[in-house]
Amino acid sequence: MITDTRGIVLRQVKTIGGRRMISLFTEQYGKIGAGVTVSERGKSRNAAAMSPFAYGNYELYISHGRFHLNKGQVIKNFYRIGADVDRYMAAAYGLELCDKLLEEEVPAKDLFELTVEFLSTMEERKSRYGTILLAYKIKLLACLGALPVLDRCACCGKPGKHLMFSIPEGGLVCEDCLAGMAQDGTDALLYKVDFVILDILDHILKNALSSLQKAALDEGLESQINTIIDRFITYHLDPGDLKAGSVRIEQTEV
Ligand SMILES: [Zn+2]
Repeated sequence: MITDTRGIVLRQVKTIGGRRMISLFTEQYGKIGAGVTVSERGKSRNAAAMSPFAYGNYELYISHGRFHLNKGQVIKNFYRIGADVDRYMAAAYGLELCDKLLEEEVPAKDLFELTVEFLSTMEERKSRYGTILLAYKIKLLACLGALPVLDRCACCGKPGKHLMFSIPEGGLVCEDCLAGMAQDGTDALLYKVDFVILDILDHILKNALSSLQKAALDEGLESQINTIIDRFITYHLDPGDLKAGSVRIEQTEV
C-alpha cells in the first residue's frame, strides 16, 4: 500500500550495510522507523526532506507491516533554527525528548501539531529559547496524558492549589499528606511551589505555544519550574539520557 502523510524527521539512523533508516513522526501513524528506498538519482532531490527538523509530505510504501520511505517534499525545513547554537540545542532537546517519549506506531496528532508549532515558534524566536522549550515540555506532557496533578492533592484527592510538589506522588500534595510523609521519613523529593508558579503552569497549558512567542519568564522561576518538570519526566516517564541535553551538538550545515 502506498500512502501520503505529513511528517517531522526526528533523526536519521544508519543501519548495518549502510542502509538508511529515518525515525519519522508522522501525522497518521505516529512515530515510525522507515527504511529509505529513494533511488540514487532521487537522493539529492529528497535530501532536504530527510534531514532532522524537516517537516514535509512523505510518500510511504507499507508492506508486511514495515514502512519504506519513497519520497519526501519539504513543507518547511526550519533552517534558521541552526543559525544560532543555543536555539539549535533547545530545539534538538525538545525533538529528542519527543522522540524518546513517543511510542512506536501510536498516532499522536495533538503532539504532532504541537511539535510543528514548537519548531515554527523556535525558528522565529530571537532569545531566551528555554521559555519555549519549557512550555513545549509541559504541553507535551498534556498531549501524552501525563501531566502532573495540579488541581488537587495527588495522594488523597483533596481539591485546591496545594503548595508542595511531590515528584513520586506525581503532583501537588496537601498539608495532611505532607505531615504523613514527614512521619514516615520517606524521601519525598519535595519542591516548594507558590501561586506564581501555579499561575505560570496554568497560563502555559491554556494558551497556544505560538502565543508565547514574545513571552520570557523570570529566569529564576523558569529554572525552578524546569527542575520540577525535568525530575517529574525522569521519574515517571524515564526518557533515558538525552544527548542534546549534555553534549554540544555540532551544527549541521544548513
Ligand atoms: Zn492529601
